Amino acid sequence: NFISAVVPPGEIGIKFDDIGALEGVKNALNELVILPMRRPELFSHGNLLRPCKGILLFGPPGTGKTLLAKALATEAGANFISITGSTLTSKWFGDAEKLTKALFSFASKLAPVIIFVDEVDSLLGARGGAFEHEATRRMRNEFMAAWDGLRSKDSQRILILGATNRPFDLDDAVIRRLPRRIYVDLPDAENRLKILRIFLAQENLESGFEFDKLAQATEGYSGSDLKNLCIAAAYRPVQELLEEERKVHQNDVGSVLRPLSLDDFIQSK
Ligand code: ATP
Repeated sequence: NFISAVVPPGEIGIKFDDIGALEGVKNALNELVILPMRRPELFSHGNLLRPCKGILLFGPPGTGKTLLAKALATEAGANFISITGSTLTSKWFGDAEKLTKALFSFASKLAPVIIFVDEVDSLLGARGGAFEHEATRRMRNEFMAAWDGLRSKDSQRILILGATNRPFDLDDAVIRRLPRRIYVDLPDAENRLKILRIFLAQENLESGFEFDKLAQATEGYSGSDLKNLCIAAAYRPVQELLEEERKVHQNDVGSVLRPLSLDDFIQSK
């Protein structure tokens, strides 16, 4: 269970269409991964066309790297294995060799498969010098050796897809093994509009809801920030409804209570 998820392609439930924006990234992944996995025969002759063994998605947090990885598996018809760098190195000290062997032999049985390594910098980050934990170093070396050991027949059908918010922390040896690096940027206003339309598609919006205005006002928001904003907004009507439905509290009476004055006394006479 050092693997956080293994999902067959039909069961991931996320497609490219569920991702707003990132058209350039989707196109690049189509060429680099989907086509070679779906049509391996196109890449099997000559020396020039070789499917790549490793891709790095890098960019700010919450921009959809994990989402892209999952959707990619759906689109490529590949199994999806997800591992998280920090979990691997913290929980599995000492078992590096066994674990990486198990992972890669499991993966070759599941091919075509995408092995998604989230926080790849924790697993395969720069060598930490004298302070680096011995187990982390062994895990990284084992991982890279197993990766290099993929037979070229398998390499067409096993892709390592790394994701990181800290690309500068990666070791040179790792960078070389991830020859394709794709920047997943924060969305601009046009793309924020597309993402907002996806999140609010099922909501009961007032007529004339101004998507444009919202997209303009959310400069600097990631896809994940936009999602949180929409969830908070969708909660407001529910909150108001709950307030209307609730019972009268002691405090409600307390808040309208006022001391009787002499006038009250005179009027009631
Ligand atoms: P981190 O680097 O923090 O792991 P990440 O880049 O992997 O972040 P995700 O986990 O893929 O980001 O995104 C978080 C959530 O934000 C997703 O579950 C998704 O709902 C939403 N999201 C982010 N970007 C998009 C997008 N372009 N279209 C639709 N949803 C998005």
